[in-house]
Amino acid sequence: MAEIRLEDITHIYPGNVVAAREVNWTIEDGVAAALLGPSGCGKTTLMKIIAGILHPTKGRIFIEGEDITDFPIERRRLGMVFQFPTVYSMSVYENLAFPLKNMGLQTSEIRKRIKEVSELLGLEEVLNLPALSLDPGTRQKVALARAVIRGRLNALILDEPLTNVPPEERMKVRLAIKTVRKVYKTTMIFVTHDQSEAFSMSEKVAIMNEGKILQYGTLDEVYENPKNTFIAYFVGHPGMNILSCDLKNNELDFGDFSIIIPETMSQAIRERCKHSTSRIYFGIRPEYVLVDTVRKPGWINFRCIGVEFGENKLILLLKKENTELQASVPRFDIREGDQVWLYFPEDKIKIFDSNGNLVL
Ligand code: ATP
Repeated sequence: MAEIRLEDITHIYPGNVVAAREVNWTIEDGVAAALLGPSGCGKTTLMKIIAGILHPTKGRIFIEGEDITDFPIERRRLGMVFQFPTVYSMSVYENLAFPLKNMGLQTSEIRKRIKEVSELLGLEEVLNLPALSLDPGTRQKVALARAVIRGRLNALILDEPLTNVPPEERMKVRLAIKTVRKVYKTTMIFVTHDQSEAFSMSEKVAIMNEGKILQYGTLDEVYENPKNTFIAYFVGHPGMNILSCDLKNNELDFGDFSIIIPETMSQAIRERCKHSTSRIYFGIRPEYVLVDTVRKPGWINFRCIGVEFGENKLILLLKKENTELQASVPRFDIREGDQVWLYFPEDKIKIFDSNGNLVL
């Protein structure tokens, strides 16, 4: 296992397609990191650069402090698992033996390693079957076994490994990945566009968009303190409510309504949004919006215009004049058309400047 560091990585494909823009990212030794971002944001490009499949247009890659930018794939000692399981039309045993034979290992050592990894991942029963006859989940487990069987890995790179596995088989592949991580204690990068997968498979998450890594942190950091409005909205089901507003004295003015905030908060906003306190952004996660069906002093009247059932909660679409927001509430007695009253707890309010960057 090892630390992987990307320094100023830019990649431009022919036709001036900029797939990675000045990426600086350090994946700490032994950490399981997810790379999460929408389709086309540059995730695979970045993985290919780390793996040595692509040479970056600009920037350097370091493994354990060593500059490996010009190293061929084999010298990087990375295990790779892709979206489409790379298994060959031979038995599972032969698939696993193949990379070991290439290393020049003795038959007895090959047998020993295959026994170990197949026991670890529950592949003993299928060793003699043709790999291509297996279900997609088991095939992906074989690909995972192949990725780690050579040993002495610096890191394991998994690029959308569950995308082509049917939902009912995903659990066993997830478990296999977690087992491998626990036993080999390897640094891991798990690429996905699915946030629940990202957060359940990793300790830290990097959020990528348009070729840039926007934030790298724990789930708590990224969820509670998203660095900008893109992350705030992208992370979460549903994402954070983001409303444009103006700061006027100790009030946030939304046009259709306003809320009074403490003096300390308005001062902090003024200090941190130096160029403008108008057209700033107010953010609150749907589960932090307090909702009641009875009028309360200081609470704001909205109408419920849509209701969706979630697990143990309702997700409400709420409207007041031109302002819409969502609230997720652990109750089931609110219907479309109902009047409700809302409150935004101060400690849950986020403020972003007019460029969308988190200031408070
Ligand atoms: P997905 O989740 O859909 O796989 P991604 O986040 O992995 O997407 P990339 O595949 O790295 O994104 O692509 C980033 C950008 O580079 C996209 O605009 C894509 O169209 C473009 N791109 C990828 N490969 C090439 C190529 N060989 N030539 C030109 N453009 C490319």
